[in-house]
Amino acid sequence: MAKKVAVIGAGVSGLISLKCCLDEGLEPTCFERTEDIGGLWRFKETVEDGRASIYQSVITNTSKEMSCFSDFPMPEDFPNFLHNSKLLEYFRIFAKTFDLLKYIQFQTTVLSVKKCPDFASSGQWEVYIQSNGKEQQVVFDAIMVCSGHHIQPHIPLKSFPGIEKFKGQYFHSRQYKDPAGFEGKRILVIGIGNSASDIACELSKKAAQVFISTRQGTWVMSRISEDGYPWDMVFHTRFNSMLRNVLPRTIVKWMMAQQMNRWFNHENYGLEPQNKYLMKEPVLNDDLPSRLLYGAIKVKTRVKELTETAVIFEDGTMEENIDVIVFATGYTLSFPFLDDSLVKVENNMVSLYKFMFPPHLKKSTFACIGLIQPLGSIFPTAELQARWVTRVFKGLCSLPSEKTMMMDIIKRNEKRIDLFGESQSQLLQTNYIDYLDELALEIGAKPDFISLFLKDPKLAAKLYFGPCNSYQYRLVGPGQWEGARNAILTQKQRILKPLKTRSLKSSSTIPASFLIKILGLLAVVLALFFQL
Ligand code: FAD
Ligand code: NAP
Repeated sequence: MAKKVAVIGAGVSGLISLKCCLDEGLEPTCFERTEDIGGLWRFKETVEDGRASIYQSVITNTSKEMSCFSDFPMPEDFPNFLHNSKLLEYFRIFAKTFDLLKYIQFQTTVLSVKKCPDFASSGQWEVYIQSNGKEQQVVFDAIMVCSGHHIQPHIPLKSFPGIEKFKGQYFHSRQYKDPAGFEGKRILVIGIGNSASDIACELSKKAAQVFISTRQGTWVMSRISEDGYPWDMVFHTRFNSMLRNVLPRTIVKWMMAQQMNRWFNHENYGLEPQNKYLMKEPVLNDDLPSRLLYGAIKVKTRVKELTETAVIFEDGTMEENIDVIVFATGYTLSFPFLDDSLVKVENNMVSLYKFMFPPHLKKSTFACIGLIQPLGSIFPTAELQARWVTRVFKGLCSLPSEKTMMMDIIKRNEKRIDLFGESQSQLLQTNYIDYLDELALEIGAKPDFISLFLKDPKLAAKLYFGPCNSYQYRLVGPGQWEGARNAILTQKQRILKPLKTRSLKSSSTIPASFLIKILGLLAVVLALFFQL
């Protein structure tokens, strides 16, 4: 009999988990507390309890070709970076195509998840749900937690002495919807993540003055990269990833800093990160440098103290007549429906094997999906997680011993701190291609490059030098998709299609970036040759 799986949440992680369950012949039921799919990506004018809340203007910072599911490219005419409503449209088409809606129980909240009394032998779970005011208990063979991690605001008022005296308005970025009502105000935005930067830029078009207070600074990248291609298609290639892995760390870090400063000098703009050699998640914002150049936004240091109307900064400067403070200070993890003995949040961290499995369970029938922050898109990442989890549930893949998993968690955490630093915003951070490959290896979906180079050199070259998108993980192994090769070879077409709205005579020249890559490869080959 097919195993029954409870999927908690119908955001992107829940939808892809449903599909993976169906692909593996499992019997899923998804519980979604709201009336619709999409999770974070379904914009509403009002903030809802228990669901992520976004502002009206949110546009993805990962591109469509790097964010789509592996056997379901986005429509050709979709723009490369999507407004939240367009991304939701993609999820709706996806759910309809794979007939997922019939497996979702809307307006049903999961109240708690507990092990069945015979868990040691059955691995089963009791799921307590509430729908239309009625509570009910249902038994499942396995659980996929897809409840998101941008719900509970982190608002560190204790770090802001004097906030109780402040007479202006203050709120968390989660509450921000649009710039209406902020005309002519003097606004301070705390933090310099993607929320802070987006909100500061938008407000600065209406406000009298916007200030951003940052304690550590940040690298800022444009969504537009070499030859106008989306940043992630250029950054996330296997070739670049190999370079980052084989070259000495000091050189890689130095090169990263040089690359980040190519667009504008971060020191001159007051943005240079305190530790510029960390690979901490950069801000992706095309407007921020120009808003700084216009003086519409000014960068300040950490806040030292507040008075009734003014803000005093660590460097001794003061800004008076502040009307509004926006705390764009990120989120904390929270699983109100899970017992601490199952998933314990400590210092805003959880100990999960490969960000998914509690290591201490006697049966591998529980996993979290999407509880991660890769340096690339979360959508293909959640998909590979779900592909692996469903095969573990089926008994086709197994997990190592508790001791091995614990050791992996500790080592991974040390590596994370070394690469990304200790900031609260980096607790779920991971390298992109390395992590995807790790998951793909578990299910046998990682392409074998040597045999591919011999069999299909054109495809192999695209895989190695081109963007590492999700289609790569549908070429071999379980869940192979016959459209994967074509999807890889035709991606340029899908990138350019939405831009080709004015017909022009084409001229073909070899882009300089291609020549640079060839020279880079030659340099690595020579370096390796002389090392041997
Ligand atoms: P969510 O989208 O939060 O969905 C969780 C669902 O679970 C919700 O529908 C909720 O109602 C439901 N739920 C929660 N608790 C329960 C319960 N107890 N019972 C029943 N249902 C429950 N990532 C990218 O890769 N690219 C981007 O461009 C990008 N942009 C972002 C922009 C913003 C502003 C933010 C905050 C994050 C962004 N992210 C981005 C990361 C983001 O986390 C993911 O894009 C993605 O939305 C996470 O999906 P999810 O399904 O895991 O969680
Ligand atoms: P975030 O990335 O966690 O950033 C939080 C910011 O607040 C950081 O700059 C952090 O500084 C600062 N901060 C935290 N505690 C502080 C304190 N006590 N005092 C001063 N500053 C403090 O949160 P976010 O910007 O909301 O982003 C959350 C996720 O959503 C990210 O993955 C982001 O990429 C994504 N997102 C994407 C988009 C988009 O696609 N357009 C838009 C918004 C968000 P430190 O670094 O010093 O800790």
